[in-house]
Amino acid sequence: MAKKRATVQCLFCGKTNNSVKMILESPVEGWGICEECSREAARRLEEMTYKNEKEQIESLDIKFPKQINDYLNQYVIGQERAKKVLSVAVYNHYKRLKYYNEIGEDDVQLDKSNIIMIGQTGTGKTLLARTIANLLDVPFAIADATVLTEAGYVGEDVETVLTRLLQAADYDVSKAQKGIVFIDEIDKIARKGDNPSITRDVSGEGVQQALLKLLEGSIVNVPPQGGRKHPNQEFIQLDTRNILFIAAGAFDGIERHIGLRLNNSTIGFKESLNRENIDKENILQYVQPQDLKKFGLIPELVGRFPVLTHLNKLDRTALKQILTEPKNAITKQYKKLFELDGIDLEFDSDALEYFVDIAEKYSLGARGLRGIMEEVMMDLMYSTPGEEKQKNITITKEYAQNIFEKQGGILFQNR
Ligand code: ADP
Repeated sequence: MAKKRATVQCLFCGKTNNSVKMILESPVEGWGICEECSREAARRLEEMTYKNEKEQIESLDIKFPKQINDYLNQYVIGQERAKKVLSVAVYNHYKRLKYYNEIGEDDVQLDKSNIIMIGQTGTGKTLLARTIANLLDVPFAIADATVLTEAGYVGEDVETVLTRLLQAADYDVSKAQKGIVFIDEIDKIARKGDNPSITRDVSGEGVQQALLKLLEGSIVNVPPQGGRKHPNQEFIQLDTRNILFIAAGAFDGIERHIGLRLNNSTIGFKESLNRENIDKENILQYVQPQDLKKFGLIPELVGRFPVLTHLNKLDRTALKQILTEPKNAITKQYKKLFELDGIDLEFDSDALEYFVDIAEKYSLGARGLRGIMEEVMMDLMYSTPGEEKQKNITITKEYAQNIFEKQGGILFQNR
């Protein structure tokens, strides 16, 4: 004779397993939750999440493009065009979020304007991205395209780009889905050469194809801890439709493609731009999407970045300004460090010129300025703390030159 089934009662509605289709048993014997009540719980949970999400967006503190630009001006020297473009794109990103929050999906569709920035290394691309990150109240992640490889190869899967974003959002999926991702060194995944290679292009085209999936706006399985995906891992699903992507790269050698195009024709350009008034010193300003394709980005990827902007080469004046003007300028940081030891530190103007000379001599650009100064300041940072007598220190050109020639020159030549 079959054993009589024990009665299990729903803790919420009191019905028993004899009167409902299914009861999910709890660890407490005799109790569980029936199908109907668990559906109701799921419905309420969804409602709550949706409400939270709506409230999150409503409470976003939207900054106007001019405000974003003003903020950037405090930290980044020059690069007016890139600042303007970024300010507008970030503002539009917020506006788009709000719009969908209020109006829903049925009305006019607002496309995302993912941005691609091109400019030599050390001109402020990452600095712009980081500065924006500090201003925003949406999660922001920086990822490096060089470590990405196609699935199945050594390196990181492209989805790890989103892992960073999830981490920046403390694993709050709905927050992460409204975030901004900065992908650095995008030029390093360009196809090498114009003809598709016979051997598989592990780090180039395959990665671009994989990235497309994220940029297109789809549901992506993200490994919560990053790294390589493996079969037994649990994924977090992220909808990338509202994530803003900003890519950047130096695109070394792209000037050749731009130059060739400009030489061959001026069609597609402003009528006024004839060959005579092309600024040959700053050819990047004429960059067009087709130059990126010639460089080795696949057309689909280029198409996913409708906004293209450039960063200028930094001249001597800009390098000197970088030393003194930004809110966190390097000289201000050293002054602060010494002030904390009760010392008033000053830099002579020709000492600053000298730092710029060295940066130019070794082609280090703005990125090298800190290293050069660190070299020069090391002895003083070592010897002055705890000394009674030194209350004022002025860094002169002679002092900097003396130290640098003694030790720094050799170090920098090897970089
Ligand atoms: P990249 O263009 O290679 O991303 P970064 O933004 O990393 O260059 O620049 C390296 C460093 O040089 C920055 O941290 C900053 O100290 C300095 N720097 C570069 N460009 C600028 C700029 N336009 N204004 C102020 N500082 C800059």
